[in-house]
Amino acid sequence: MTLERARTLIRDIPDFPSEGILFKDITPVLGDAQAFSTVLDALAERIAGKGFTRVVAIESRGFLFGAPLADRLKIGLAPVRKLGKLPYHTDRVEYALEYGTGTLEAHVDAITPGDKCVVIDDLLATGGTAGAAGRLVEKQGGKIGAFLFVVELTFLNGRSVLAQNGTPVESLISF
Ligand code: AMP
Repeated sequence: MTLERARTLIRDIPDFPSEGILFKDITPVLGDAQAFSTVLDALAERIAGKGFTRVVAIESRGFLFGAPLADRLKIGLAPVRKLGKLPYHTDRVEYALEYGTGTLEAHVDAITPGDKCVVIDDLLATGGTAGAAGRLVEKQGGKIGAFLFVVELTFLNGRSVLAQNGTPVESLISF
């Protein structure tokens, strides 16, 4: 199994969740044991041996890759969620959406100051979501060592937003 074959499993869903969006459905990758394992190996390879101490996974598809990645690296995971989902005290950041704003939260003790964090999500589009997660990490005294994605929509140029401070941006499969 290669990443190229994993790429062929990603399914295009036109007009989901709203008209004009071509949604990249990664669930067939999850459903194929070999493809999922290949993707996780490749994600781990990109960041192994670089002293990361925390995986920061973005709701909700980021959890699907972030949790097994944290286990492979033997480091802890901090979930970043949409407003109102986390039970304990939280820190928040607002970010711009196409219409209006969104809010991301993390528990106040999600990050240990000085943590070297890798922020992971399934897909990089404009970079707004991952950038906001990065600000949340910094608010809690963590450092962003890398942004990591399974899929990157290169035409949206999110990479240039995230790489502004020289932070590495890694993705496995580009469209
Ligand atoms: P952005 O903040 O624009 O980089 O959007 C990234 C977030 O939105 C990620 O959590 C993605 O899962 C989701 N997303 C945005 N565009 C798509 C798309 N075309 N297909 C699948 N997920 C998407």
